[in-house]
Amino acid sequence: MNKLTIRDIEVGSRRVLVRADFNVPLDEATGAITDDSRIRATLPTIKYLIERKARVILCSHLGRPGGEVVEKLRLRPVAQRLSELLGQRVEVAPHSSIGPEVEKEVEKLRGGDVLLLENLRFQPEETENAPAFAQALARLADVYVNDAFGASHRAHASIVGVANYLPAVAGFLLEKEINVLEGILANPAHPFAELAGGAKASDKIAVLENILDKVDCLLIGGGMAATFLKAKSYEVGSSLVEDDKLDFAARLIKDAAERGVHLLLPVDVVIADKISVEARVKTVSVEEIPPDWKIADIGPQTIDSFSEELRRCKTVFWNGPMGVYEIAKFAQGTQAMAKLLASLKATTVVGGGSTAEVVAEMKLADKMTFVSTGGGASLRFLGGGKLPGIEVLLERRG
Ligand code: ADP
Ligand code: MG
Repeated sequence: MNKLTIRDIEVGSRRVLVRADFNVPLDEATGAITDDSRIRATLPTIKYLIERKARVILCSHLGRPGGEVVEKLRLRPVAQRLSELLGQRVEVAPHSSIGPEVEKEVEKLRGGDVLLLENLRFQPEETENAPAFAQALARLADVYVNDAFGASHRAHASIVGVANYLPAVAGFLLEKEINVLEGILANPAHPFAELAGGAKASDKIAVLENILDKVDCLLIGGGMAATFLKAKSYEVGSSLVEDDKLDFAARLIKDAAERGVHLLLPVDVVIADKISVEARVKTVSVEEIPPDWKIADIGPQTIDSFSEELRRCKTVFWNGPMGVYEIAKFAQGTQAMAKLLASLKATTVVGGGSTAEVVAEMKLADKMTFVSTGGGASLRFLGGGKLPGIEVLLERRG
C-alpha cells in the first residue's frame, strides 16, 4: 500500500481522531449487538494508540438515522462492548459528535484514554460532506486515522472532508484490507476462482468484469444465476431476472469462453412457489423449472460440482450467498460453500455484508484467510474503482 499508516506518524500524547466502522448489526427487539466482528477488527489500531499514550477519539456511524437523533442508534452499546474488549472505560461523548461540549470532553482526555463520539449520521452534514462539519471534527484532534474500510467508498465528512484539515493516515485494519485485496488482484496463486452469488447481477457487474481476466474459474450461484441461465436460454420460471442485464450476462459468458475462464452455472436448483418460510419446495434440474416457480438456492449436484472445482483452487474470492439463506430451507448451498471454503488449504477471501454475516454466524471466520469488513467498499475496490477515503490519505514517498 502506498499510503502512510499510524506506524509512520508520531501519535504519543497527541489527540488522534480514528474513523472506525462500528456499523454493527443490532437485535431488533433488545438492541443488543449480534455480531461484534467489526469492533474486534479495529482493536489492533486502538490498542496501538493506547499503548503509545495517544488520546484516542473514535468516531463511527451506525445504521441510517438520516441526519437526526434516533435513540435506538446511539453508540452506547458499542462503547460498552469496547470497554469490555479493551478492559478500560470508553465513554460516549454527550449529545452530538461535535461542538463545545464534546471539545470539553476531549480536553479532559489523558494519554491512553478513549472517547467515542456519538453516531456521526445524527448530523446531516456527515453524509453531505459539509466543510464546516469536517472542520469541527478536525478541531478535536491533531492526527486523523482512517480505519473504516467499510465506509471508505463514501465521500463523507468523517472519511474525506476531515483529511483536508489534519494529517491523514491509515489504521491497521484499513491497511490489511487493502493489502489483502490488492494481493489477490495483483498476484493471486492459481488456480484462482471467484464464487459469486447474491441477489442481483447488477450489483456485481464491475467486479465480474474486472476480475474476469485474473481468474481461472468463475462460479455463479444466488439470485443472479437466474439472469445468466436465462441468457443461455433456460426457462427460469418467475425467478428474479434482470432483463436489462441479459446482454451483459451473455457477453460475460462469451468473454469467459474466449479467455479460457471456466464458467460454472447451477445445474440443479432448489425452487419454491414463493420466497417464504411456508413455501412449497422442490429440487429440479435447471432444464425443468416450471413457470411460477422461483430459484431459491443451488441444488445438491451444483454443490458437488462447485465443490470439486473449488477444491483444486489456490485462491478463492467469495462474494454473495448462493440462495435466500435467511430462510433455513434455502440456506444449504450457502452453508455448504462456507464449510467448503473453510476446509481449503488455499487463500480464501470473503467479501460482502451478507456473505461475511453467514461466515460469522457459522463461526467459520477464523478458518478463512480474510473476511473483509467492507461490503460495497471491497466490491468497488475489486471492481478496479478508487475509494475516496483512501485517495485522501498521505502518500508514502520514495
Ligand atoms: P453481499 O451482501 O454478501 O454482497 P448481496 O447483497 O449481493 O450479498 O446479496 C445478499 C442477498 O441475496 C440475500 O439477502 C439473499 O437472500 C439474496 N439471494 C441469494 N440468492 C437469492 C435468490 N436465489 N433469489 C433471491 N434472492 C437471493
Ligand atoms: Mg449486501
